[in-house]
Amino acid sequence: MLLKIQTDEALDSYISRNRLFLKDKFEVEDPFKSLQGDEWSIKDLILVADLMSWHHFAGFIKLVQQHTVYFSYRLIVDDVESMLLRHRFLEKSNCDFGYVTKGKNVAICLECVKDDIERVGFSFWRRSHQNEINVCATHNVKLLKKCQFCDRAFRVENHCLNVLWSGCKCGRYILESETEINECSLEFKRSKLNAAILNFDRKLDCVIAYESFLIALNCNERYKELWNEVTDSRFDRVLFPWTKSDLHYEIKTYLSFGPEHLRVCCYIVATLIFLLFADFEEFIRSFKYILEKKSLQFESMTEKRASLVS
Ligand SMILES: [Zn+2]
Ligand SMILES: [Zn+2]
Repeated sequence: MLLKIQTDEALDSYISRNRLFLKDKFEVEDPFKSLQGDEWSIKDLILVADLMSWHHFAGFIKLVQQHTVYFSYRLIVDDVESMLLRHRFLEKSNCDFGYVTKGKNVAICLECVKDDIERVGFSFWRRSHQNEINVCATHNVKLLKKCQFCDRAFRVENHCLNVLWSGCKCGRYILESETEINECSLEFKRSKLNAAILNFDRKLDCVIAYESFLIALNCNERYKELWNEVTDSRFDRVLFPWTKSDLHYEIKTYLSFGPEHLRVCCYIVATLIFLLFADFEEFIRSFKYILEKKSLQFESMTEKRASLVS
């Protein structure tokens, strides 16, 4: 009998918790033994979903939707079918199903840890804290990415995720760390947007999304203000580390290719929402407004991926 996965718990965290806390109960062998290494295939995830009694295709999608960061950059891009087609023949596909890879620090919010312990008696690693996110969207504090006592980064090769439960190699525990308040509104906005996108369970129509970007870009003074704020504080590289050259230029270029191109450049979509709208909800309102003007239904121009009901 496996442990119960928690809301927003990263799949990697769940597997590590099971391995650590049930190791004496795994009498025959580790049920997750196929999940070694940095990349997981669809086959691996279907197996995990099955072990969790989330059967069939719907169970697999629920696992991807609720416990990985896969869809965070695929708001427009991917429906389930195209994802499967793309990865169908890959044994180990590099498609962001996990978040822990070599060379990537994992992050945690000290206040979330305290809340979780009070609420359920233990804590876990959240998917909404990973993926270059620096601030907790709930507590607006800086995420911890290394041990405050010995400076060892929270990485697979240093601690594994067990540092949260078993302590650091230096003998200290995450709970002994000091919380640092975040002062940067841009980081906080980015974290909240990331969390909202992760919790959104529909795929958006690219033409309508494109139209809402263009309208906001053409008549929205906020873009200029925010743009200046981002560049003045040299924040474009920090907020959008994937940019190759000049972000402003890249955005204009991508948009000039038309709506279909939004499917190809996943990162631009979240960036545009960040720069053009106050928050994710405002973007969705604008999306719905355009649909209303065209007498189109929200349900027919978006696609639900999986039920979010646990
Ligand atoms: Zn938090
Ligand atoms: Zn340490």
